[in-house]
Amino acid sequence: MRQRASLRHNGSVERVGFSYNRDHVEHDTGEHPEQAARLEAVLRGLRASGLAEQLVPIEPVAASRDVVLRVHRPALLELFDKVERMGGAYLDPDTVMVPGSLSAAFTACGAVLRCVEAVADERVTSAFAAVRPPGHHATSQRAMGFCLVNHVAVAARYAQTLGLERIAIVDFDVHHGNGTQDIFWRDASVLYCSTHQYPFYPGTGGWRELGEGAGYGKTRNVPLASGGADADLWFAFDRAFAPAVLEHRPDLILVSAGYDAHVADPLAGLVATEAGYAGLAARIRRWAEECCRGRAVFALEGGYHHEALARSVSATLRVLLGETPADEPRGAVRPDTRETVEALLRLVGQ
Ligand SMILES: [Zn+2]
Repeated sequence: MRQRASLRHNGSVERVGFSYNRDHVEHDTGEHPEQAARLEAVLRGLRASGLAEQLVPIEPVAASRDVVLRVHRPALLELFDKVERMGGAYLDPDTVMVPGSLSAAFTACGAVLRCVEAVADERVTSAFAAVRPPGHHATSQRAMGFCLVNHVAVAARYAQTLGLERIAIVDFDVHHGNGTQDIFWRDASVLYCSTHQYPFYPGTGGWRELGEGAGYGKTRNVPLASGGADADLWFAFDRAFAPAVLEHRPDLILVSAGYDAHVADPLAGLVATEAGYAGLAARIRRWAEECCRGRAVFALEGGYHHEALARSVSATLRVLLGETPADEPRGAVRPDTRETVEALLRLVGQ
């Protein structure tokens, strides 16, 4: 990939980093929906569209155990080591480890960390880490839902060691990021905002879940009924998340960028499109520009229809490179989405 900056509409130069976890193929899950062909499709899409050469390559380096241990309990890493020695096993009915999974997960995490470093020292404005396995279901003590290491959570803690104290995590994967929510439940320094299908796996993410103690109000969930579309996601972002993010004034926005809310996705019932994802990326970019000089790192989570995933990642990257997408969603906001957002805003007094 050749290094090139894109010219923004306002004339400023935008550099967007891209990190790809080459070791992901070692996490060979066979016909499991979370399979190696997902990332190959993303890469093919970026090459075919010419986007690949507009991105600044960021070479991933495996995360150290020390940095992962800032989020995960030693017992979880000991379990991983044991399963690796056994030659692999299912950690829960959805989550498989094979020999090589652990190093793939640590390199995936390291790719997100390298992206954080690149935006922290302003080599790039924003960055995207195309990684697998995903991370947002992993709690401090438990691997679940295809996830071993919670990359975004580790990245948040790592960013804080680089002086980026206040973090906002935006999660638009169709599943609730229970692991991330749990890790920062009592933490006022990390705002967690999630849209997701509900009720759905993993069962958490109701709008009344707001955090506890010092972290009360720093968790914000907009659960969406099956059939929720671009307009519902944008409404949640504009009405429920924008005020929280702007009030939090993050030094960095981390994004759990899962694309399994796509209409073509086989695993879930939301009906988002590439245009919808472009609109979400535009909103995140705007918040990052307003709060933290554009610093945003996107980490891939779900997305199981390979072509839809590839097109959606490309749509996201085009926005980060400076394209301004359409701002009018097709279709109306569902009444149940409005009710949920209004109830949430009443509860938090906004
Ligand atoms: Zn998901």
